[in-house]
Amino acid sequence: MVAKEAKKPIIYAVNTSFHGDHSYGNMYLPKDTKIIQHEVTQDYIDHHFEQDTQFMMQNFGQGRGIEEIVPVDADILVGKGGDIKVDLGGKSVEIIDFGFAQTGGDLFVWEPESKTMWTGNPIITVKPSLPWLLDGHLLETLASLKAMKAFLPEDATIVPGHGSPMTVEDIQWHIDYLEAVKTGVQEAIDEGLSLGETVARVKLPEFQGYALYGWVHPGLNVPAAYRDLSANK
Ligand SMILES: [Zn+2]
Repeated sequence: MVAKEAKKPIIYAVNTSFHGDHSYGNMYLPKDTKIIQHEVTQDYIDHHFEQDTQFMMQNFGQGRGIEEIVPVDADILVGKGGDIKVDLGGKSVEIIDFGFAQTGGDLFVWEPESKTMWTGNPIITVKPSLPWLLDGHLLETLASLKAMKAFLPEDATIVPGHGSPMTVEDIQWHIDYLEAVKTGVQEAIDEGLSLGETVARVKLPEFQGYALYGWVHPGLNVPAAYRDLSANK
């Protein structure tokens, strides 16, 4: 579709993380498209591909094409804290690791001419969507999102992992949410509350508008924050 719409070859494809909806399509790209991903993403795919496709089929259903997916090795790997530039012929695009942002192999793509940043899943879409701390690391995720926002000029356009383009200010919602989780969970830990008591206490009504709140907040993010903040005491 890209080749047809833009009438340009697909020279590079960037996997913003190992997540299936961001990497399983690699096998359908033209053979000479160079795949760029983080070395953590490559490592994950090398060791967990089977397990990952099982997870995806369990959650999203069988017979939807996941059975036929074959992993493709990256041509270019980005290392920890990496920041590489690719030349698209008079247009340079930067591919940046701002730190752990959801999977540890999270890449952000910056095109300075149009001031556009593609984020992948660390920013799913505009509010009221919330970050998913699937692999934990509340504190690092918070720091990485702040670093990414600080990098951006005020008038940049953000293309999130899922959803329509956003403004830089829209990112603040996600940062504010993680800060609120951090504050609420830290208070609970300081009072000696258990994980179950903390989940019951830290409800954050101002962030309840997200359709997946009931799963993401009490089921994923509060437990992730509890574990992360308990370990960082
Ligand atoms: Zn996604």
